[in-house]
Amino acid sequence: KPHIHLQIQISLFGDDDRLIVAKDVTRLYQLEQMRRDFVGNVSHEMRTPLTVISGYLETLVDNADDLPPKWRRAINTMSSQASRMEALITDLILLSKIETGEQTVHDTLTAVDTMIEQICHDARALSGEQKHEFTVDVTDHRLLRGDESQLRSAFSNLIFNAVKYTPAGGHITVTWNTNREGAHLSVKDTGIGIDPVHIPRLTERFYRADPSRHKDTGGTGLGLAIVKHVLLNHDGNLEIRSEIGDGSEFICHFPRERLVERVPEKEA
Ligand code: ADP
Repeated sequence: KPHIHLQIQISLFGDDDRLIVAKDVTRLYQLEQMRRDFVGNVSHEMRTPLTVISGYLETLVDNADDLPPKWRRAINTMSSQASRMEALITDLILLSKIETGEQTVHDTLTAVDTMIEQICHDARALSGEQKHEFTVDVTDHRLLRGDESQLRSAFSNLIFNAVKYTPAGGHITVTWNTNREGAHLSVKDTGIGIDPVHIPRLTERFYRADPSRHKDTGGTGLGLAIVKHVLLNHDGNLEIRSEIGDGSEFICHFPRERLVERVPEKEA
């Protein structure tokens, strides 16, 4: 079915005069759709050959002990760069699925409290010797209606970013609470912080506040774009508060309607 997409702008003049301008943005919308499909398809097509290359590289790495150091270094570098590319392709595919709505938002009930605990457990492993201090503060045990795997990607990205952008020994606080307006997941760190001029653009694909730093963090540059689209799919939004040197706070807001009471387990 052909759809027409209109952009409507209403201006008010005086008490009752209105100017309504409707603009046909169908073509723009179609081009955007083509771009998404193209990125999705290219990523898919690149995944298979890359899996083959990574497989062989892994075998080479495992058997590299007897090789001259120069070769060993080359093989290790190729292997780690292939892993980076795999992470990038995985994120590109995920993002294009989330954006096109191909991965529809399943109405599963997500236990955010236990999900945060699990992600923080993995984040502690990522932190390793850097020994970040984690505080998890959950004041609501209701469930969130939405797509569990999308929510997990979003929350993991925020919590892992907190580890990546906070120097050793820093503090990371994850809070899940609710008030009149809705439910809020906050990830707060005592890390390097972000210059506020960058904040409005951070959720753009590949946008980085400090491009010179991104190589050693191993990120794909797509994390916050994924977070933004997951929240859009859940009628939520992302708030970012940060100052250079003062750390950052990323808050996911969800509407109240998405909270569901936990049904007590029936006794057998
Ligand atoms: P990346 O893979 O580069 O981490 P993201 O999309 O996850 O990509 O984040 C985009 C940019 O936002 C990062 O490159 C970094 O500059 C900034 N950023 C994200 N999270 C934090 C944080 N907790 N502290 C400081 N900067 C951050």
